[in-house]
Amino acid sequence: MDGYPQLVTDEEFLAVRLRRGEQNTYAPYPSEIIPIRDKAVCALCGEKMARDIKSHGRPRWRCKNPECGGSVYLDDSIILERVVQKLKVLAHSPACIRLPKAAPASTDALRIENELALCFNRADINPEYMKTLIMAAAAERYAGLNDPTPAHRLALLRQKLELEPENEETLWELFESAVTHVCIGKGGEISLSQKDQKECAS
Ligand SMILES: [Zn+2]
Repeated sequence: MDGYPQLVTDEEFLAVRLRRGEQNTYAPYPSEIIPIRDKAVCALCGEKMARDIKSHGRPRWRCKNPECGGSVYLDDSIILERVVQKLKVLAHSPACIRLPKAAPASTDALRIENELALCFNRADINPEYMKTLIMAAAAERYAGLNDPTPAHRLALLRQKLELEPENEETLWELFESAVTHVCIGKGGEISLSQKDQKECAS
């Protein structure tokens, strides 16, 4: 145009435009990043972080708190490597992996159990009353139990980690069950936090 020869055909020009459009709108989200994204928080303010690739396809992690403005460019391979590294540190000291604490027996449960103990020592045993007490004591104990599944899962996980602390699959299982947050710092530094641990540590 304007006296210059046309270097590419209209078809080629269009094809390139379409390709570029495709690259801009199609944001590949690697499946291995999803678990990290779900737990990613800002190390500055604790708000959730989102990942985008608006800038030339470079992954950027951005704090969702508009007043914080924390944001850092981090390649997927780097964030993955850093998370795995932290998981390995944790895996090498399984004692540091937190288990949910079992709740102490409620005072009602203890009262019912005391009453039951008294009944056993009485001469005139009333079997119906005792049965009621036993059922009530069991119900109280049961109601006071934490869900035993996560604790059991963590106990098994600790055993596996003691045998094979570098096994990738086990490390991600550790991530899944024990890690609550992946804190991302200003300089791209990563720390993992566990249940009941508000501050970012390790
Ligand atoms: Zn923030």
